[in-house]
Amino acid sequence: EYLDQISRTDDNVAALLHVDREAALARAAEVDRRREAGETLGPLAGLPVIVKDNICMRGVPATCASRMLENFVPPYDAHVIEQLQAADAVLIGRANLDEFAMGSSCENSAFKPTRNPWNRECSPGGSSGGSAAAVAARMAPLAVGSDTGGSIRQPAAFCGVVGMKPTYGRVSRYGLVAFASSLDQIGPFSTDVHGSALLLETLAGHDVRDTTSVDQPVPSYTETLEQPLEGLRVGIVKEHFGDGLDEEVGTAVHAAIDAYRSLGAEVKEVSLPHSKYSVAAYYIIAPSEASSNLARYDGVHYGHRAEKFENMVDMYETSRGEAFGDEVKRRIMLGTYALSSGYYDAYYLKALKVRRLIREDFDKAFADVDVIAGPATPTTAFRIGELIDDPLAMYLNDIYTIGANLAGIPGISLPCGQSGAGLPIGLQLLAPPFEEERLLRAARMYE
Ligand code: GLN
Repeated sequence: EYLDQISRTDDNVAALLHVDREAALARAAEVDRRREAGETLGPLAGLPVIVKDNICMRGVPATCASRMLENFVPPYDAHVIEQLQAADAVLIGRANLDEFAMGSSCENSAFKPTRNPWNRECSPGGSSGGSAAAVAARMAPLAVGSDTGGSIRQPAAFCGVVGMKPTYGRVSRYGLVAFASSLDQIGPFSTDVHGSALLLETLAGHDVRDTTSVDQPVPSYTETLEQPLEGLRVGIVKEHFGDGLDEEVGTAVHAAIDAYRSLGAEVKEVSLPHSKYSVAAYYIIAPSEASSNLARYDGVHYGHRAEKFENMVDMYETSRGEAFGDEVKRRIMLGTYALSSGYYDAYYLKALKVRRLIREDFDKAFADVDVIAGPATPTTAFRIGELIDDPLAMYLNDIYTIGANLAGIPGISLPCGQSGAGLPIGLQLLAPPFEEERLLRAARMYE
């Protein structure tokens, strides 16, 4: 059924880069056969899952929506792919993204822009726009994305689905193509909170192949999900309701916070005084790490190699020049500049210090409240083409989501209404590190 839904809708939505119908059907038949044989099956038995195209799966192209990796077929599985296979999920397709996960609209894909299923003139958000749009268009009940600065939560908000970024270290990054390694985290998309709880249970867990993966037990999120949190203290960040917030989004989010009040929660104002520097710090740190991570695409090891070149340096330059898109080049230049001698202290080191202050703001806020609630994005989905020539306006889309990546804390976006134009609005909830269970329960209370 889901494969048929893909055939019916994906010409219009363009959420997917690759679907292997035969392999998916064979896998589903295999799961069925084992069920009939009375075998014990995993928690995702037979459930179709779509995976963002920057997560490696053996024998299946992983393009990162880049010409650079157009013909790259990984010889190994990411940790999350192993986990999904072991849970008996059926992997049915690969989702579009902004090239190397750099962007907020899916327009930076080298292949095609994905469209928002609620209004095809609009962007689904990004970078995991394909994963979000696929779930919104019911091409799969579950999808996997990655979130470096908001790339799961912002598209979830734009597409009216649930999307969650776990604590940094909760899910192994082994096999996720690196963008900014200290910020990247894999997480779930689903139609409801239960789906994200279920999928996160499978994705999460310690893995020695990612040295930043944390060895902590993973609670059963689905088991406690239906238990409301007694005496919940909800923080609202005063800096999140200022200039730049669209009125309709603000109204819907305030209504959601009122719903928490009526459920017995105590609502308190908290302050994140350094949050105004989060976009600036992020756009030093993320490009710096990207400039280093993307140095591996040299036309030698793998990826695109130019056909014509004069010498080795020319081969590097021509290969990279031909195969990277504008935004990727912009990030590499920004990052290389920020890391270069003479500028390192003024930019990179300074940004790291600001990052620490941002983390400390969250620590202080969470001394008073259990979760923080606010808008996931300043506006509803913008039109395709509207922001593409204005990188700064595009970067500001992440203003409410980036803090969680800089601080390493978990965050979730869930639907909380729609605008007059019928576009979804997202409520973001944040919790202290490794409190995904609390976060999911708080989200479920509202849902
Ligand atoms: N939009 C942000 C960026 O362009 C975040 C992307 C992401 O989370 N991968 O970097």
